[in-house]
Amino acid sequence: MDDLREQVELLESTANLTATINDVQKAIDLLAAARAKIAADQQTAPLTLAKLQGPLKQAMEQATKDLKPIYSGLGKYGKALDKKFKDKPLPTAENDALSSHPQLINRAIAMHLLREGQFSVASTFLEEANRHPPHPEPTPNTPNPYLREAWEKEMADGSFNSHKLQKQFEEMYHILHALRQKKNLAPAIAWARERSKLLEDRGSNLEFELCRLQFVCLFVGRDEEGFMDMTDSAVGPLRAWAYARSEFGPFQGRYARQVQELMGAMAFFPNVVDSPYRRYFYNDSAWEEVANSFTREFCSLLGLSADSPLYIAATAGAIALPTLLKLQNIMKEKRTEWTTQNELPVEIPLPSSYNFHSIFVCPVSKEQSTDQNPAMMMPCGHVIAQESLDKLSKGARFKCPYCPSESHPRDAKKVFL
Ligand SMILES: [Zn+2]
Repeated sequence: MDDLREQVELLESTANLTATINDVQKAIDLLAAARAKIAADQQTAPLTLAKLQGPLKQAMEQATKDLKPIYSGLGKYGKALDKKFKDKPLPTAENDALSSHPQLINRAIAMHLLREGQFSVASTFLEEANRHPPHPEPTPNTPNPYLREAWEKEMADGSFNSHKLQKQFEEMYHILHALRQKKNLAPAIAWARERSKLLEDRGSNLEFELCRLQFVCLFVGRDEEGFMDMTDSAVGPLRAWAYARSEFGPFQGRYARQVQELMGAMAFFPNVVDSPYRRYFYNDSAWEEVANSFTREFCSLLGLSADSPLYIAATAGAIALPTLLKLQNIMKEKRTEWTTQNELPVEIPLPSSYNFHSIFVCPVSKEQSTDQNPAMMMPCGHVIAQESLDKLSKGARFKCPYCPSESHPRDAKKVFL
């Protein structure tokens, strides 16, 4: 990669557009001056125009000349790129799943931009995508791509509500900015408090995590807006104590132990570094951790995953590409073909965070669940497929095949994967 970096530095230092921009500006200045002169006295027009020709031609020639090193620099860079990344054809997409759903792709791109906080790019993209709607092409798996789903119609008729999403993500970025840049927890705490019940139902610890960090901040001498206040070393612990007394009440039930630990730390206040509570007070990654858990909860409440699906798909694709290329070469040599649709012929080792358990296989029938035969969870928490449930229960109370508990089939809940 070093030779590439060298080329980039060379491009930046020598082959940049500064000289050309100056040349063009000179030409613009000449034209503007001539226009002003003619506007002031129209009689001078023929003479002014005649006088303008020589200098203008010169200025444009200079601009062209100054562009030369840029072209040669770009050429060299292109060659260095080619040398580094040998021209390898991408695997052919015989099983093209994308052409039939260009609207889906557009929506994924728009969503990605919105959730990355690129609001103006997203709105331009949506505008252009709506102005030039893509044409779905039939593929072997989707011979009739014109069956539009609800959101595809939304995209097509322009009612895809990007404004609402944008508003929501603006709020998320506002809160994240306060957290990361200003070390100000107040907006995040206010957000979490408003949704306290929802978060608790999800089993989220976010509200407590935020309040605990607020306690720690007050303890080490920050005020509630995140500013350091070093007037007196005892001020911090006293503020933290007051904060705990007024705010920790609702946490006593679920987080009694953690609250006790924080209170225990009070006793060590002149020397928390050497106390058993050190990990709460000197944790460099605490801010990033709460910011991440805030993003995760925020997206979950919107019904979205914490990471952009487009980003995940592209990254997983990039990881898989070298293996797929190799496979394609082997198949060509052996003259074999992979015919199973919707399944890769090799295993691609992905990081554990990229493992999504979107497939359910019924432990009774050993069949994969489908829309017609979905996974059902019984009150005991065990999950089997609908058909197995029907067979086992015959519509009456029955015993779970995996534990002693009995239940009625109507109490089973559909599991959405
Ligand atoms: Zn059970």
